Amino acid sequence: MQLSEIISSDKFFRSIEMFPPKQDETIPNIIDDINQLKPYDLAYISVTYGAGGSTQGRSLKLIEGLAKQFDIMAHFTCVNTTRSQIDAFMGKLRALGVHNILALRGDIPAGMTKDEVLSDFHYASELVKYLKETTKMDIAVAAYPEIHPESPTPEQCYDALILKANQGAELLITQLFFDNDIFKRFFETLHKKGLQIPVIPGIMPITNFNGIKKIIELSNTKLPETLNNKLTKHKDDSDAVFEIGMEYALKQSRDLKLFGVKGIHFYSLNKRKNVEPLLKEI
Ligand code: FAD
Repeated sequence: MQLSEIISSDKFFRSIEMFPPKQDETIPNIIDDINQLKPYDLAYISVTYGAGGSTQGRSLKLIEGLAKQFDIMAHFTCVNTTRSQIDAFMGKLRALGVHNILALRGDIPAGMTKDEVLSDFHYASELVKYLKETTKMDIAVAAYPEIHPESPTPEQCYDALILKANQGAELLITQLFFDNDIFKRFFETLHKKGLQIPVIPGIMPITNFNGIKKIIELSNTKLPETLNNKLTKHKDDSDAVFEIGMEYALKQSRDLKLFGVKGIHFYSLNKRKNVEPLLKEI
């Protein structure tokens, strides 16, 4: 389904995120596992994209396999990318039946400055505008309840999000977070500033102690102290960590649904077992 149809319906929706694995050979097994989520009526599966096109081929392979069973949202970054490269990739996505894009700038590669790396586009808002002018894709964009690390002030971060909506984005999907109060303040601030499109929380169930420490560092989010203490106490018991993480994600998701979000985007880390308990309940 296109995002515009999902949004115009009154129904609460669920989606999941996947990433292209390092080895192509693992793609069929991942797809077999995820295909078993078909009964949960996912609005779409989003597939990440390595900034600058580093995973382009593998992202397309994963999309091609998943698109047989699910609607897809393809992530796309404009960092270090020209208009003609964008046009070519959009053509490939159209051929696979993809109608939804998560339009991103992407991270600036380490050791480079913005001026060295950015080519035809400087910010995601410019990509949104270009895609709206040149394609029929529906567009989602990324949002940061804990504020994007490059934003000098929260105000600037909010303004950049509103600009992406004004350029035609249909939906905001947030970075993962573990404190619902931060999300609720962010949501209310954006709506007070006039944002009219849905803000969809991104929820990641913690499934692995060392893994989550790395993810938290990369995504610039914080673990609430009580949750961190509980996980640390059980860090050598992988089943207990999985159970604590899943219980926390369920609690977070139930609370957000009650708060009134239009949908929830679950970070699956490519495994059915990481999201199926949530899809059963939410
Ligand atoms: P932008 O919206 O362009 O914002 C980048 C920074 O510039 C922000 O600080 C913003 O406030 C500022 N800014 C924006 N517009 C202006 C302006 N006009 N003037 C001054 N400052 C401005 N990365 C990947 O490489 N691949 C992925 O698949 C991927 N998927 C993601 C999915 C989600 C849900 C999220 C939340 C992030 C994802 N990312 C992905 C990470 C993302 O690429 C980085 O966070 C990147 O640093 C910013 O991308 P953006 O699209 O948010 O950029």
